[in-house]
Amino acid sequence: MPARVISGKQVAAEIRQALSGRVQALRARGVVPGLGVILVGDDPASHSYVKSKERACQELALHSVVRRMPATAGQHEVIAQVEAFNRDPAIHGILVQLPLPDHIDEQAVILAIRPEKDVDGFHPVNVGNLHIGSRCFIPCTPAGVMELIERSGFELKGTHAVVVGRSNIVGKPVAMLLLSRHATVTMCHSRTRDLPAVTRTADVLVAAVGKAELIKGDWIKPGAVVIDVGVNRLGDRLVGDVDFASASPVAGFITPVPGGVGPMTITMLIKNSIEAAERILG
Ligand code: NDP
Repeated sequence: MPARVISGKQVAAEIRQALSGRVQALRARGVVPGLGVILVGDDPASHSYVKSKERACQELALHSVVRRMPATAGQHEVIAQVEAFNRDPAIHGILVQLPLPDHIDEQAVILAIRPEKDVDGFHPVNVGNLHIGSRCFIPCTPAGVMELIERSGFELKGTHAVVVGRSNIVGKPVAMLLLSRHATVTMCHSRTRDLPAVTRTADVLVAAVGKAELIKGDWIKPGAVVIDVGVNRLGDRLVGDVDFASASPVAGFITPVPGGVGPMTITMLIKNSIEAAERILG
């Protein structure tokens, strides 16, 4: 039987519906959740992501401010903008669109964000709190991955989850979140020996690699939940890290690319921004 396709588009729409109620409740108390975005340079992908974030804010009636800075902006100027958002009571969440130009130290900029406004969840305080299981902002893509798994109705407790990719923004936080839901977690990376042998043992497989259609159907355990984070251009198509055609007859659940994890990421950003505003009200 072919896998059930988990539509991120549909799940994101359901979550946005629920979020709109939370925005209305905040507005009734005189608070409009505000997101401040800093975009440095001319990277077309970054500009397009920021546009989508602005659109999502408009859709849900959030206040959003985008500060566009030239690629030549100095680190001190970017940090000064972060600090201005830190002080601004109308801004509850701050996002610095990555990557930053090479002459800027990303970590220094992230460190300048007040952790309670760090809606991307990249500040070391939020990263540390995620690891020790304290309240934090969960990075948006990993949060979206977890929502998709949970909404598939799959019980994670006691299962074997394999995460391919160990980046700070996707692989590592996804692994921590799966562990916190009592999965037994294996992390794989570019030096993992015999990757297909490891992925074949996965009840839940999360692919966050950035290699087009790397993971084939015969790398997948029959019935597994397969979450494909990858976004890769293959000719004129966008494809994931999983070869959907060979994987979907084997998997139990699978996310498509596009329309899987992608729509969840921005939705989770909006959710974190609303939560940041709610926390101020207590
Ligand atoms: P990174 O490049 O930061 O990390 C890639 C990871 O994959 C690394 O840990 C690397 O290992 C590992 N890797 C590379 N090649 C192999 C291989 N052949 N076998 C096993 N592991 C390998 O990528 P990101 O985590 O930032 O992103 C991953 C993918 O997810 C990309 O396609 C990106 O576009 C997409 N993405 C999608 C988002 C969305 O909203 N849908 C959001 C963020 C990312 P090592 O550490 O050893 O180098």
